[in-house]
Amino acid sequence: MSPQRKDLRIVIMGCPGAGKGTQAKRLCERFGLAHLSTGDLLRAEISNGTSLGRKVEDYLRRGSLVPDEIMVELTCAKLDAVEGGWLLDGFPRTLPQAQELQAFLVSNGRKLDMVLALELKEGVVIRRLTSRWSCPSCGEVFNLLTRPPASAGKCDRCSAPLAQRPDDAEATVRRRLMVYEDLTRPLVAYYRGENLYEEVDADRSMDEVSSAVAALIEGTVLARK
Ligand code: AMP
Repeated sequence: MSPQRKDLRIVIMGCPGAGKGTQAKRLCERFGLAHLSTGDLLRAEISNGTSLGRKVEDYLRRGSLVPDEIMVELTCAKLDAVEGGWLLDGFPRTLPQAQELQAFLVSNGRKLDMVLALELKEGVVIRRLTSRWSCPSCGEVFNLLTRPPASAGKCDRCSAPLAQRPDDAEATVRRRLMVYEDLTRPLVAYYRGENLYEEVDADRSMDEVSSAVAALIEGTVLARK
């Protein structure tokens, strides 16, 4: 389907493992949006060995949040460079980040259209994340429950040995969930107050979640534009 290009500005949030990355990619294709994933940006800085990468790698390994000042500067610089609509994936994750984003948008005469949250229960998250493996060589992602590799431990595409993201180990997943509850969950009330918050049940197949999300955007934001 050809993308319906609109100047949409959407934030996607959801606890680790809710399928944010996959849904974000699909949404961007469908609605012709630029995809800005702060996790991907940070991982690229780390694998390129930049000074920012060296500064942030311990936070990612431990499953804690990178300080707000670093995240705000990185994200606003990237948003500034985007022409047209965008989908922000992984930012904001704290109230101060949300307030800085708001100030940045206001100073550019822009506003958010929607904050979309993918909701999942904790037990499901832990099962999902600890079964996620990916190929360090080509980036293909597998899931031992829903999409196992054809040959155990090997990438279907390039045969390289699969690895777990260091922050997908169970202890780190539990820590990331605690961080989510403590620091990111307050954004729900904040964005409800701004009348921007919409929730989707993420305990369904990826295709079902994608359809629900697309219907929500079409029925609310696009209907208003
Ligand atoms: P993600 O791929 O979105 O799960 O992000 C992976 C990791 O990157 C997180 O666990 C944090 O350590 C870091 N990170 C990504 N986005 C942010 C953010 N907005 N604020 C603080 N840390 C972040």
